[in-house]
Amino acid sequence: MKTVQNKTDSIDGKEPQGLSDLSINHPSAWDIDQFRANWYAFLESLLEEEASSLIPSRRMRCQIEQTPVFQEVVSGWDTMKSSLRLDAWKRLLLAAEESCRTILPACVQCGECCRMGSPTLHLEDIPLLQSGKIPWDQLITLRKGEPARSPFDGKPFILTEDKIKVREKEGLRECVFLTSQTADEAAVCSIYNDRPLQCRAQACWDPIPARETADMPFLLRENIFAGVDLLLKIMGEHESRCGFEALSSAFEEINRSNGENVNEVLELLSYEDHFRQFVSERFNIPSESMDLLLGRSFAQMTTLFGFRVSCEPDGTRCLVSDDQKE
Ligand code: SF4
Repeated sequence: MKTVQNKTDSIDGKEPQGLSDLSINHPSAWDIDQFRANWYAFLESLLEEEASSLIPSRRMRCQIEQTPVFQEVVSGWDTMKSSLRLDAWKRLLLAAEESCRTILPACVQCGECCRMGSPTLHLEDIPLLQSGKIPWDQLITLRKGEPARSPFDGKPFILTEDKIKVREKEGLRECVFLTSQTADEAAVCSIYNDRPLQCRAQACWDPIPARETADMPFLLRENIFAGVDLLLKIMGEHESRCGFEALSSAFEEINRSNGENVNEVLELLSYEDHFRQFVSERFNIPSESMDLLLGRSFAQMTTLFGFRVSCEPDGTRCLVSDDQKE
């Protein structure tokens, strides 16, 4: 095991070399910052030893830091008599090793699953939308034909039907609901008691329940907007004129023409943008909720093909290849 200033081999009651000196390196002399620094160093080496375990190290750390021993030692360290600190430190290290050996079959809210991707919603989740626990503007529709990746093994595949997902943070795979109140606090799920089915099934100690959710009916836009015929008609119209297939073949044309023929893509981008703006304004739907109603915009999806849309000062939109310098 490591300490910041000491290297020790054991926490089994044998006093490690160096800890017998009542010096600044001894727990009795640590202030809370030195205590924390030594704790992190110890955890690092403990988790390195467990690196072959399937359980993520963040989850192990979370479980250890939720033990009564950790809570008691940390909260009392500053006011603890110096003579009691060595004993408290040893109790903590033993509790940590024990905790690592006994993984609780329960979610400790470490947030590890939430950093690997946001959940896909199931029909069973519809009451969470109806009650406003999950707001519409935090959802996106991935449409049939779009590329996606498996939440279980990360492998890419093409969607054979629409899927509705919670948004992920910009440029990350992390769920938008994983947040912390202050910079010092660990991030946790802000809708934990009302989290969707997939999140409730995810268990780092047992992958089977989450995999089983893949056989349960997924939520579709048709379920959410059932009975609102006008919106269903708009969705159908958008799909037939602005399906992902159309965008994909327009980009293929750019490749075939060695980058010469960009007009088809530009026309599609412009048409889809007008369609979305018109629906948003005409039916007073906030623009943030349009990604649920019509899926991601074509402009957003250009990145899937190695391009992005840039706006010139005069309002003209250009298609820029990722290979092109700013
Ligand atoms: S909804 Fe909550 S539990 Fe589910 S991935 Fe997002 S942050 Fe995690």
